[in-house]
Amino acid sequence: MILDITELEPNNPIDIEIDEDFEELNAHATGMLNVKMTGNFVFIKGDLDVNIELECSRCLKKFEEVLNVNIDEKFFKGSYSPVKSKEHQMKAADFAEELNNSDEIDLRDLIYQSIIINVPAQALCDENCEGLEELKNYIKADENIQTIEISLKMNNKDNNN
Ligand SMILES: [Zn+2]
Repeated sequence: MILDITELEPNNPIDIEIDEDFEELNAHATGMLNVKMTGNFVFIKGDLDVNIELECSRCLKKFEEVLNVNIDEKFFKGSYSPVKSKEHQMKAADFAEELNNSDEIDLRDLIYQSIIINVPAQALCDENCEGLEELKNYIKADENIQTIEISLKMNNKDNNN
């Protein structure tokens, strides 16, 4: 899914339908992306529904979830001129990804990165998931360690005063 930006007309946005498999993520994305070119910038926006298979971090069971993935990206057609001040470059770079005069935007890669950002770090099959017996004990042990660490820190603080 490569977008050829030479086919875009200035200020004439187009919609691109997305219906794409991401086998490596066990995910499937559907939805619409709006692509608009203005001056030296290309804007890509849209909301995608991503069906994804996740593993519950408590019981390790696999389950399906639908993630709403918002895409809002801005690309700069050239590369930032080295003549400009460093401050100016950094400000511009914060907002737009440089294409370095390439005519292509890899939409698949853009969606892939957006899915990864939206995958919850702690996925739960159910918010009340009881989890595995062994895992429960493990979490308890971990909590105990944290409690010890906190009290150690507090002791250190007392000593400093
Ligand atoms: Zn679970």
